[in-house]
Amino acid sequence: MKAEDVLNALPVNYYVIDLKTKTILHTNDASITDLKEPCFRQIFNESRSCMNDNNMCFCEQALKIENPGELVIETGEAGKKRYYRANLKKINHEQVLACFTEVTREKSIQKDLKISRKRLERAESLASFGTWEIDLEKQVLLGSKGACNIYGLDAGVLPLSQVKMIPLPEYRQLLDNELDDLIQGRRQYNIRFRIKRPNDGEIRYVHSVAEYRSEKKMVFGIIKDITEKVYFKNALQESVADLQLAQDIARIGNWKYDPVTGTLTTSDPIKQIIAGYEIPSQPELKSFEKITGKEHFALFSSAIMQALYKGVPFEKQFKIKNSDNAEKWIEIICRPDEEGSQWGHVLRGTLQDITATKTAENELQHSNNLFRTLIHNLPDAIYMKDSDCRKIIANDGDAHNCGRQSPQEVIGKTDYDIYPKEIADRYFQDDRQVMEKGIPVINREEVLPGHPKRWILTTKVPLIDKKGRITGLVGIGHDITRRKQMEEELKAAKLRAEESDRLKSVFLANMSHEIRTPLNGILGFSNFICSENTDPRQFRGYYGLIEACAQQLTSVIDNIIDISLIQSNQLKLNCSSFNFIELLNELYAGYKKQKEVQLVDVDFRLTNFHECNAQGFCSDRARIGQVLKNLLDNAFKFTSQGYIEFGCLESEQGELNFYVEDTGIGIEESKLEVIFENFRQVEEGFTRQYEGAGLGLSVASGIIARLGGTISVKSKPGYGSTFYVSIPEYKGESATEVKTVKRSNNVATVKKEEKLIVSFEDDPASMEYLRSVAGLLGCRLINFDNPVKGLDYIRRNRTDLIFMDVRLPEMSGFEATQIIKNEFPNLPVIIQSAYAMKEDMEKAFMAGCDDYLAKPVPLKELRGTIKYYIQE
Ligand code: ADP
Repeated sequence: MKAEDVLNALPVNYYVIDLKTKTILHTNDASITDLKEPCFRQIFNESRSCMNDNNMCFCEQALKIENPGELVIETGEAGKKRYYRANLKKINHEQVLACFTEVTREKSIQKDLKISRKRLERAESLASFGTWEIDLEKQVLLGSKGACNIYGLDAGVLPLSQVKMIPLPEYRQLLDNELDDLIQGRRQYNIRFRIKRPNDGEIRYVHSVAEYRSEKKMVFGIIKDITEKVYFKNALQESVADLQLAQDIARIGNWKYDPVTGTLTTSDPIKQIIAGYEIPSQPELKSFEKITGKEHFALFSSAIMQALYKGVPFEKQFKIKNSDNAEKWIEIICRPDEEGSQWGHVLRGTLQDITATKTAENELQHSNNLFRTLIHNLPDAIYMKDSDCRKIIANDGDAHNCGRQSPQEVIGKTDYDIYPKEIADRYFQDDRQVMEKGIPVINREEVLPGHPKRWILTTKVPLIDKKGRITGLVGIGHDITRRKQMEEELKAAKLRAEESDRLKSVFLANMSHEIRTPLNGILGFSNFICSENTDPRQFRGYYGLIEACAQQLTSVIDNIIDISLIQSNQLKLNCSSFNFIELLNELYAGYKKQKEVQLVDVDFRLTNFHECNAQGFCSDRARIGQVLKNLLDNAFKFTSQGYIEFGCLESEQGELNFYVEDTGIGIEESKLEVIFENFRQVEEGFTRQYEGAGLGLSVASGIIARLGGTISVKSKPGYGSTFYVSIPEYKGESATEVKTVKRSNNVATVKKEEKLIVSFEDDPASMEYLRSVAGLLGCRLINFDNPVKGLDYIRRNRTDLIFMDVRLPEMSGFEATQIIKNEFPNLPVIIQSAYAMKEDMEKAFMAGCDDYLAKPVPLKELRGTIKYYIQE
C-alpha cells in the first residue's frame, strides 16, 4: 500500500501547506484540493471570519507559533457549532503539517458533563445532599460541594481520621462498624446519625448510604441533611399527637362520608363517644336511628339529606343513649364538599361529646334559676348596675323601691330615668364612688323618695370580674321602716313615760292636796268638838262641815277608783231603762240648792229638755249622772259670772245628746286635747288657782267611751266653754241586777234581852265606831281582830249578829263568812269593807253574807242596819 493510501485511510484530514505560497501541497481531503489561497476558513468552508480575538487569522496565528501543538477550533453558527482539534507541526520554515479531527461530539459530551456537574451541585445544595468517596488506600475522604456543606467543611479532600471526628461521639463506633460491615460485604451502609458541624458548631441530623467498589478500593456514598425533615417529622408527629390529644380531651372525632363508594370513615374518638354501637363502614341512614333515638332521627336524617344532595352544612345537637342507657349529648358538624357528584356531596365533619358542656349549661341554667329565684324572693331590694350605671338585674323589692310595678320597668334604666334629677344626682355620685374608687357604701340609712315615708339601709359594693376590674355594682336595700317606726314609737313612748312620770308627781302633789284639804276640815272640826271650850250648840254646824269634807274626800277616792277601773277596762255597766229628763231635773234641783251662794252672780238654767226623746232611754243612769255631775262641777268651778246652762240637744231615736255650757274662764285651744287625759289640768303646779285632781274629765270621757259615746268641747279663753256629749242607747244583754237588801227604817223597839254582836275588825277606829253604835242600841259588842279566835268564840257563845271586815289577818272575811254560814246558817252576817267596788259586793254575797256596807258607813245607815237584823 502506498503511503498516500494510508494517509487517505486515516480518520483525520491532513494538509501540508506551503506558507509562503499559501498552497496546499498535500491533502487527503478531496473537497479542498482546488482551493486557492487556502486558509482554514476556506478549508472549513466557513462563512464567518476566521479572525480571532487578536484580529489575526488563525492560520497565521498557528504558523507564527513556534510549536503550535494542538488547538481546538470552534466553527459554525450558534446551535450548529462544530469543533475540531488541529494538530499543527512545522515541517520546515515554509511548510506546515496540519491534521484536523472533528471533536464536536467530544466537546458536547464535555459540555453536558459540566452542565450535569453544575446541576448535581445545584441539586445537592437544594436537596441538602452531597456525594462522598473514601479512598481506602489513601485514607482520605473526597466530598462534593454538597457533602462539604453538610459536613461543614471547606476543603473537599480531608484525611479520614479528621472526618471521623465530625459525627457526635455516640455515633462514631457505630459508623466504623457500618463501614467495616460494608467493606466486608456483610450488609449495606445505610445509617442516620448526628454531626456537629466544625464551621458553625450546629448539630445536624444526616442520612448516609454508601456502596463499596472493591476493584478501586473506594467507598462511594451519598449524604443527606435530614435535620429539617426530622424537625418537620417531629413537629408533624407532635402536632398530630397534639391534635389527637386535643380531640381526646375535647372528646371530638372526625368523620367522612364518600357517597360514591358509600363508605363512612370515623376516627377513634367517635367510636368511644358512641360506645356500644357498631357503625358499619358502609352504613345506611336508617342504621343511625338506634343512636339518635326516634325523636331526633327525623332531624338528623333531614340534615344529612340536605347536606348530601344540596350541599347545606349543619351543626346540630342530639341527645343519644349509650347501649348502657346512659344519656349523652353530641354535636355533629357537617361541611359538605363544594363539588358534588351525581351521588351527592362528600361530607366531612366532626362529632363531639358535649355532655359535659350540656351538663354545665344545665347546671348554669339551674344556678341562674336559683339565683333568680333567690333574688326575686329575698325580702330585700337587690339590683345590679353596669359600668354606665344602668340596671341590669333588679328584683321586685327594687322595683317597689323605685315606685314601679315590676323589675322589667326598671331594667335597662338609669336612676335618671326613674327619679327626679336631684335625687338621681345623689345616687349617681354614690355609684361613681363605688365604681371608680372601689369604695363600698355599707348600711347607710336613707329615706326613700315618695309616700308613705320609708327608710332603707343602702349597701353598694363594686362588681369585680376575674381580672379584678370593676364592671359595675351590686346594690341592696334593706327596708328598716318598721324599725324606724318602732324607734320613733319608742322615743314617743319614752317621752310619754317621762311625761307620765312628771304627771304622776303632779298628780301625787294634787292628790295630797285634794286629800289633805278635806282631812284638814275633818280633823280641825273634830278637835273643836272634843275641846271643852267649844259651845255644844256649835256641834251641829261642825258636824255638817265634817260631813261635807268627808263627802269631798269620798268623791276624790271614787274618781280614783273609777279611773283605775277605766284603765283596766273593768268598768262594769249597770244599764236599764230610765227617764233622762228626770235625771236632769234632779241634778238641776240639787245644784240649785247646793250652789245657792254662787248662783247670785251666775244664771243657772236647764234648757231644751223637751227636745230629748229620752223618756225610756236604756243606759247606765248612775254613770250618765256622774258624767253630768263632773261637767257641772267644772262649770261651777270655772265660772264666776254669766251663766251655766245644760240640757238636751236634738237626738235621733236611740241616741242621747246633751251639753253643759258656761261663760267661765274658757280653755286655750292647745289644751283642749290634754284636758281629757288623766291628772291633766290646764294649770299645773303650786300656783294654780283652781282646786281639783285633774280626774273629772278623764273619768267622764272614760265612762262615755265605755257607753259607746263621744265627748267634745268648744271653748274660747275668757268667753267660756261648751261640752257636748253623745251616747247611743245600750243594746247589749239586759242589765244585771245586783242583789240589794231593802231595809226599812221603821224599826220596832228592841227587846229587853241584851243582844250579842261579834265583830271581826282589825281597825280600832272602825271597831270603836261599831261598838258605840251598838251601845246606842243597847247591844254588847265583842271584837276579834283574828278571825280564827272569833270563830272559836262564836262556836261557844250564842251570837245574834256578825260584822265582818274583808281584809283580816290569816283568813279573809269572805272565807270566815263562808265558815260561819256553813255552821250557823241563820246567824246574820254583815260584811263591811273599804273595797267598795261592785265586784267586791258580789263576792261578799257569794260568800253568803246577808248584807254589804261600803265604808265609810254613815251613822244613820249603820244604825238602821243593826236595828233591822237585831229585830229579826
Ligand atoms: P279638775 O278636777 O282639775 O277639774 P278635770 O279633768 O275635770 O280636772 O278638768 C281638767 C282641766 O280642764 C281643769 O283643771 C281645767 O283646767 C280644764 N277645764 C275643765 N272644764 C273646764 C271649764 N268648764 N272651763 C274651763 N276649764 C275647764
